[in-house]
Amino acid sequence: MIISIAAGKEKTMEKLIFATGNEGKMKEIRMILGDLDYEILSLKEAGIQADIVEDGTTFEENAVIKARAISELSGCLVLADDSGLEVDYMDKMPGIFSARWMGEDTSYDIKNKAILEKLEGVPEKQRTARFVCAIAAAFPDGRVVTKRATIEGIIGYEIKGENGFGYDPIFYVPEYGRTTAELTPEEKNAISHRGKALRLMREEL
Ligand code: IMP
Repeated sequence: MIISIAAGKEKTMEKLIFATGNEGKMKEIRMILGDLDYEILSLKEAGIQADIVEDGTTFEENAVIKARAISELSGCLVLADDSGLEVDYMDKMPGIFSARWMGEDTSYDIKNKAILEKLEGVPEKQRTARFVCAIAAAFPDGRVVTKRATIEGIIGYEIKGENGFGYDPIFYVPEYGRTTAELTPEEKNAISHRGKALRLMREEL
């Protein structure tokens, strides 16, 4: 009898799947959403293997494509993000192509050097850039919500810093006097496009 009462009281937590295979992102997500009433799972932890074609034309479209596909497959609440670097002097490239730009397998050392070369001699005022992150939430009832956040900066003059990933070593944040690759993970989370978008999405969950 006591056992059945105890079992009855047990609350099964709803699952929230974040559609990524990136462990770094999962860490960030758990830091920001960890205290919510959800069991947060990566794709791998949810036992899902999916090859989704991200053929949207905006960050939001790509995030929605991923979140919706995994939600339909799993029947769970699914979050997905899409992010990238917009360089104003390059007509906002690489933008949604950030991961694929110059080839998926090309190193970021090469990609970052290519951007520095394109901006050689370009004055600081014209070196403006931003990281953009769109997050989509696809709910089991078919509802979809998106949030976007950015961090503004300028493209520096050299590769600097060992932290972070991707384009961080050339993304200079004037307020901090450092590139995002020179910030600690905590400093970056507090001001980053992804951190801000996750905190906005948190209010919807
Ligand atoms: P995705 O959102 O995982 O598809 O990432 C897109 C690409 O944008 C990454 O592979 C990086 O090239 C770039 N990117 C997105 N966020 C960041 C960041 O915080 N730092 C450096 N590069 C980033």
